[in-house]
Amino acid sequence: MTIPDSIDTDELTTKRQTIADTGRDMLDQGLTKGTGGNVSGRVGDEYAVISPSGMAYEEIGGADVPLVDFEAETLDGEFEPSAETPMHTMVYRQRDDVGGIVHNHSPYASTFASLGEPIGPSHYLIAFAGDQVPVAPYETYGTPELGKIAADTLGDEYNACLLENHGVLAVGDDIGSAFETALMVEYCARIHYQALSIGEPNLLPDDEIERLTESFAGYGQQH
Ligand SMILES: [Zn+2]
Repeated sequence: MTIPDSIDTDELTTKRQTIADTGRDMLDQGLTKGTGGNVSGRVGDEYAVISPSGMAYEEIGGADVPLVDFEAETLDGEFEPSAETPMHTMVYRQRDDVGGIVHNHSPYASTFASLGEPIGPSHYLIAFAGDQVPVAPYETYGTPELGKIAADTLGDEYNACLLENHGVLAVGDDIGSAFETALMVEYCARIHYQALSIGEPNLLPDDEIERLTESFAGYGQQH
């Protein structure tokens, strides 16, 4: 296994460490438990680093994070990449604008995923994901079919989707913004759930969502 010459080794080292740190952030923020979920970051035009399979987030160091190509083949690293690597690489192939991906099974968002229902625009922060968080129809975890249906559901316009009976896929310009989007999805899912529990949520109109989406597009640079 060798690291391709086109890869900047400083960038690689930094992103490997960010993957390790973001895994712990997912635990700290209650987005995942145990070894569930996975995080990846684009490296150059054709490669990605992704959390290793089945390893406790507390124990993952930067050096443990595998480097893969967009065919989901491991190029460098001692450990197996996440079982969901085909889903991550499918999204990178389809979306040039995506630099980071977070997948988790956060409880409120996964509740909507199990209902097969999108998270509606009842809170303005939904605009981090789009005009809703749509649902990708069920496919078995780790399969190319799941990757394809998830990438198709994201299309060009969504930064997050639910995976039916499974969890959440969130994307962003970089690993940090994908993590931010995953947090917003779980927050909006919780508010939507609570609003539905005691009444009929007010839904934001499309033109307001558009305004918010434009406003949030520059959010990553400002904060
Ligand atoms: Zn999963």
